[in-house]
Amino acid sequence: MIKIDLTQRAALVTGGSSGIGLATAERLLDAGAAVAICGRNPERLAQAEARLRECHPEARLIAAQCDVLDANDVAALAERIRREFGRLDMLVNNAGQGRVSTFADTTDDAWREELELKYFSVIRTTRACLPMLREAARETGDAAIVCVNSLLALQPEPHMVATSSARAGIQNLVRSMASEFAPDGVRVNSILIGLVESGQWRRRHAAQGEGKTWEAWTGELARKKQIQLQRLGRPEEAAAAIFFLASPQSSYTTGSHIDVSGGLARHV
Ligand code: NDP
Repeated sequence: MIKIDLTQRAALVTGGSSGIGLATAERLLDAGAAVAICGRNPERLAQAEARLRECHPEARLIAAQCDVLDANDVAALAERIRREFGRLDMLVNNAGQGRVSTFADTTDDAWREELELKYFSVIRTTRACLPMLREAARETGDAAIVCVNSLLALQPEPHMVATSSARAGIQNLVRSMASEFAPDGVRVNSILIGLVESGQWRRRHAAQGEGKTWEAWTGELARKKQIQLQRLGRPEEAAAAIFFLASPQSSYTTGSHIDVSGGLARHV
């Protein structure tokens, strides 16, 4: 594997205390980047920080408690990154979770909550980080935003109606931001994931697993969903695509996406 050197660069991974975000933070630290992660739950954040420091004792690492829906939290985190890292080259908008609900059982409040989470988790962090990303792009010629999005954006599921609709809006927003920020050298892309093993799926297994082992339960899920690679994705597989889009390896790619769904996508 070609080793990418990101020692002069810094990244923020929102929701970096678990699953895909944590795997992405590991990958970026492996390449030498300074990395900030954030999440709301302090215990989960502390565990993630300990795990990252174990493998990277010398790492330039910030693990900050921050709700990406809280403008003050996000502004404080951006300020801390500027103070401690002096720069930001890569923003990974990853924090969030899906909502299982049909049109019939999604209330107005649930719609508002879902749209708020999907849109403002991207809007607030992007707005707060954009000045630093523009500065980094002026210096190096490349800065990048990666939004962790879902295949539901293109292939909606009726049992996740609000999430699917919001995800489609985010794909549209990615395209608009890519056009607006391109003249400044800031690229914007997304990954569209299918089903990736993570905290969310572990919690669903605990609640709905009916005593089945994780392997049996996820195997059944993959068959039911007709995932062509016949298994759920691993966080590090999503992280590999995020890493590509965040790093200068993809310096001529913007306004685009990578499918990480194991063949769950049915469109050409
Ligand atoms: P995890 O539950 O493992 O991780 C989610 C992370 O986001 C946690 O660190 C969580 O920490 C953080 N988070 C959630 N809400 C907020 C918030 N408001 N502010 C700050 N941090 C927050 O899930 P995944 O790794 O699976 O999910 C990563 C992203 O991928 C999410 O946006 C998810 O919706 C998306 N996705 C995942 C799929 C999958 O199959 N895994 C499928 C489609 C999309 P804390 O709770 O402590 O705040």
